[in-house]
Amino acid sequence: MEKIILIKYGELTTKKGNRHVFINLLKNNVKKILKDYDVTIIKERSRMYISSKKEDIDEIVLKLQKVFGIQSIVISYKVNNNIDEIKNKVLEILKEESAKFKTFKVITKRADKNFEVKSMDFNNIIGGLVLKNTHLKVDVHNPDIKINIEIRPEGTFIYLNEIAGAGGYPVGIQGKGLLMLSGGIDSPVAGYLALKRGIDLECIYFDSPPHTKVMAKNKVIELANIINEYSGNIKVHVIPFTKLQEEIYKNVDNSYIITIMRRMMYRIAEKVAKKRGCKVIINGESIGQVASQTLDSMVAINHVTNMPVIRPVACMDKIEIIDLARKINTYETSILPYEDCCTLFIPKHPVINPVLEKCINMEKNFDYESLIEECINDMETITNLKTDFKLDNIDDLL
Ligand code: ATP
Ligand code: MG
Repeated sequence: MEKIILIKYGELTTKKGNRHVFINLLKNNVKKILKDYDVTIIKERSRMYISSKKEDIDEIVLKLQKVFGIQSIVISYKVNNNIDEIKNKVLEILKEESAKFKTFKVITKRADKNFEVKSMDFNNIIGGLVLKNTHLKVDVHNPDIKINIEIRPEGTFIYLNEIAGAGGYPVGIQGKGLLMLSGGIDSPVAGYLALKRGIDLECIYFDSPPHTKVMAKNKVIELANIINEYSGNIKVHVIPFTKLQEEIYKNVDNSYIITIMRRMMYRIAEKVAKKRGCKVIINGESIGQVASQTLDSMVAINHVTNMPVIRPVACMDKIEIIDLARKINTYETSILPYEDCCTLFIPKHPVINPVLEKCINMEKNFDYESLIEECINDMETITNLKTDFKLDNIDDLL
């Protein structure tokens, strides 16, 4: 008797025209995430089947729960389309699995119209069998377990409850975006949400040694490692930002330091994005969270680029962002104390409603364009990110 993992697709089933593109990409992504396992993957219009060694199944399910584009995962048993075989298998499964449950419901789907019993009648047959042979009682509205029986041309699949998948679209279906990744709480969450909608990521981090310590950079790499579990393709571009930042500090009004610094970040991000084939910039700005994230600030800052800027957490409360950060396992790393460049250069009274003309005038005080070129020429790219990162020891970051 074969135990097989069955994947049900997420939202992609609604995209009729390019459905095969979605499914092929999803299959590739699944293949990539399971590269260390001995598996056979078969894709179909409405689902994918994965056969593997029995002892790998639990680990594989955990991996699959991080693949976007999957709505649910079920561990099913495959038998022939034969009434007695199905009955025996149902009882065998329940013998192993039913102890902790009280109620059940049978859900038969008969896709193979050659099968001689109709779905409703088959529900009754199996229902009667379960009532007679186990302690379980029927509850059609809110059962503890659903006994799913899918009778398809290629065989009958029997499974109990479904395991939730990650939802979303297969990563890469939208192409790439450049994520401005800082060591904070918001930007890794923004990255996760972008990946969920099918945007693959490269990351850009503005590093300001010696004002920021190497730990701050390592923290960013660690965060990239964690979100890379949803992609496998992520790279981090580290921009040496110190010189440009010091020039800003010398040449612009104190209250405008952050505004101008962020205009420079956007300018650099746009250039790197174009160079790397990224279509959009993504960041962790959240409306009103700090002075540089008021709508007036966004107007003055965003003015330097025509590239779309996606802000996945723009309309979320901090507490909602934190909840998500905990869920995706980035929170504990994000709250490690190493300061990033923004925290160190923060003025006492940052402007909350910057005036665009003032920004433009202040930027005339120094040759920022050549400094930007220098930043990009000296960029360091980190490509060997891990996809199963576990932080066992905080010292690993140092
Ligand atoms: P986060 O918690 O993500 O760091 P934040 O609340 O600290 O965000 P800001 O420091 O104002 O907010 O930054 C807003 C966004 O700008 C960040 O979410 C990130 O996308 C980007 N950003 C800020 N600093 C850097 C940096 N040093 N390198 C790359 N991106 C940055
Ligand atoms: Mg920050």
